Amino acid sequence: MADVLAFGAHPDDLEIGCGGTLALLAAQGREVVLVDFTRGEMGTRGSVAERRAEADAAARVLGAKARLNLELPDGFLPFRDPASGLAVRELAVARVVELIREHRPRLVLANYPSDAHPDHVIVGETVKQARYLAGLKKWQPVAGGAARATERHRPDLLLQYFEHEQHAPTCVVDVSSVFEKKLAAIRCHQSQLHDPARAEPQTALSRPDFLERRAARDRFFGAQVGVDYAEPFFTQGPPKIADPMSLLP
Ligand SMILES: [Zn+2]
Repeated sequence: MADVLAFGAHPDDLEIGCGGTLALLAAQGREVVLVDFTRGEMGTRGSVAERRAEADAAARVLGAKARLNLELPDGFLPFRDPASGLAVRELAVARVVELIREHRPRLVLANYPSDAHPDHVIVGETVKQARYLAGLKKWQPVAGGAARATERHRPDLLLQYFEHEQHAPTCVVDVSSVFEKKLAAIRCHQSQLHDPARAEPQTALSRPDFLERRAARDRFFGAQVGVDYAEPFFTQGPPKIADPMSLLP
C-alpha cells in the first residue's frame, strides 16, 4: 500500500520534475513509492549499475518508502522491445494498472504527455490511461503474461510534471521548505551531472549550471505565488477549492 505512486521514464526524472513535491509529501508522513519505467541504459553518461545506486540514494534523500523499476527498454517506450518484439506500451499499461491496484494510492504523479523526449510522452499517456483502466472492474491486464485477477482501484488525482518542455500549469506546489532536499536528491545522480573527471560526452544535465537553471524555474513559479520555490503541475480540469479563504497567502 502507498499514499502516492510517482512514475518517471528514467532514473532521474522524478527528482528533476517533482522532487520537491515528493520530499514534501514524505515529510508530511505520506507513504511515497517511486517507479522508474527504465534503467536509463540509453543515457549518454553513467552505467546501469551506477544509475541504480544513484536512484536508490536519491529515494532515501526524498524519504520515499521504496523505489521500483519496471525494466522496460530505455528509448523504446513508444515502440517494440528490440529483444522480445513485444509492444512496450502495452506492457507498460498492464504493469502500471497492476501497481495501482496493488498499492492503491489516492495520488499518482507522472510526466506531462508533451515533451521533447518520446519516453516522457509515453509515461504521461500510459499512467493517464492506466489510472482510468485500473478502476474498471472487468479490465484485467494480460499483456506480457498470464492474466492475474486484481481488484479495481482508481486514484483520485493525477499530477503531471514538466521536464524539457514547460507548459502553463494548472497548479503549483510550494516546495520552499524542502528545496535543499530536492537539490540533494538531484545531486545523487552524479554520473549525469557536471564532473570534469568523467570523459563521457556532455549533455544538458552535465552543464555546470544545470542545477542553477532548474532552481531558476522553480524560483520563477514560486515568485508567481509569493513563495521562494514552487513546482508546476498539470491536472485534468481545475483543482477544486473547498474554502476560497484557503487561497489567501
Ligand atoms: Zn527522462
